[in-house]
Amino acid sequence: MKVMKFGGTSVGSAQRMKEVARLVCNGEKNLVVLSAMSGTTNQLVEISDYLYKKNAIGALEIVNKMEANYYKVIDELYTKEEFKQLGRETVKKHFDYIRTFANEIFTVFEEKIILAQGELMSTAMFNYYLQEQGVKSVLIPALEILKTDKNGEPDTFFIQNELEKWLTDTADAELWITQGYICRNFYGEIDNLQRGGSDYTASLLGAAGKMEEIQIWTDIDGIHNNDPRFVENTKPIPSLHFDEAAELAYFGAKILHPTCILPAKLANIPVRLLDTMIPDAPGTIILNECRPHKIEAVAAKDNITAIKIKSGRMLLAYGFLRKVFEIFESYQTSIDMITTSEVGVSVTIDNAKHLDEIVNDLKKFGTVTVDGDMSIICVVGDMNYENIGFQDKVVSALKDISIRMISYGGSNYNISFLIKSDDKQKALVALSKSLF
Ligand code: ASP
Ligand code: MG
Repeated sequence: MKVMKFGGTSVGSAQRMKEVARLVCNGEKNLVVLSAMSGTTNQLVEISDYLYKKNAIGALEIVNKMEANYYKVIDELYTKEEFKQLGRETVKKHFDYIRTFANEIFTVFEEKIILAQGELMSTAMFNYYLQEQGVKSVLIPALEILKTDKNGEPDTFFIQNELEKWLTDTADAELWITQGYICRNFYGEIDNLQRGGSDYTASLLGAAGKMEEIQIWTDIDGIHNNDPRFVENTKPIPSLHFDEAAELAYFGAKILHPTCILPAKLANIPVRLLDTMIPDAPGTIILNECRPHKIEAVAAKDNITAIKIKSGRMLLAYGFLRKVFEIFESYQTSIDMITTSEVGVSVTIDNAKHLDEIVNDLKKFGTVTVDGDMSIICVVGDMNYENIGFQDKVVSALKDISIRMISYGGSNYNISFLIKSDDKQKALVALSKSLF
């Protein structure tokens, strides 16, 4: 059994839903995880925003517009009047429910209930479509099988048990459908796994059901070896180690949500990224093994700020770094790259919200310099230090670029460079030319 997850654009219209139906009706008994139709979650966030501001009219205007749009999709999706009717009734029920929040006290609890409606609708609509096609599909409510614990972490024991119960109780189904993203928390309240969390759902369910494979279907044919927005002729990478994928997921390869990697990696279940438009393309498979000696990909992340703290007091001292890090911690700002020398340390952050306060506090410990508008270029592959020669290739590709920081050795899978964002494209192109 496999998990097949489809994101918002893959179910974004009647046409796309029909294509997904064709893909999932492949003779195998799989578990299908769906996101909300594209744009829906953003609109639900906006509705909630109006309700927080006690602007019921603003909220209801969006609700009405969304509802009209859903009726159009329903009209195109089903052929039989009976199913059009079912679809309309279902959607109406959800939008009427959202409307009931317009006159109530609005808190984060109500918001989470509203945010859950998108996936509840897309899966119900899709399930009716399969039934109209004569497929024996079963809709498993994610709100009954996905639960987080006291710390907000997935309750894997619960998930495993409940999934197994559902699958055994409905063993004669041809296909199972469930919602991505939504869950219940420790107290039984409706919650979610954060924006983009459907990938995480797929990974958690794949691990819980010890499935053969977790497929993430999107609209690109895999993880590319460089950023196609800046470099021509990028290619999908056939296979990656989970750790390589984790580096790339953070550094901008946005097709896979970073949280999705860990459950699959620990359960040793391959994750395959596939393209709904070119379903026969091999995509990218992510496993617990890497292709030896291979540099796989380059990625970049913008809006990076570098902060350097130089201090004679650091020389031969202990506890200096702790004091520096504590300042970042107190402003809940995470550090991405670090380089140190005996008399100074440079770090990068991607959230400059508290930059002024951080710099102010750091001045107690040394001379502080800030460089904004920087980008991290990350080169990913099998870069165990015992392999020789890869550093040379990477560094010499960047010979005409000024480099502010270099970080290697944090993992066996990456070298990162901090450069000016203005030089980013030039760096990405040069790396592609010399590495691939
Ligand atoms: N619908 C949710 C979102 O847009 C979850 C997802 O698509 O993964 O964030
Ligand atoms: Mg998504």
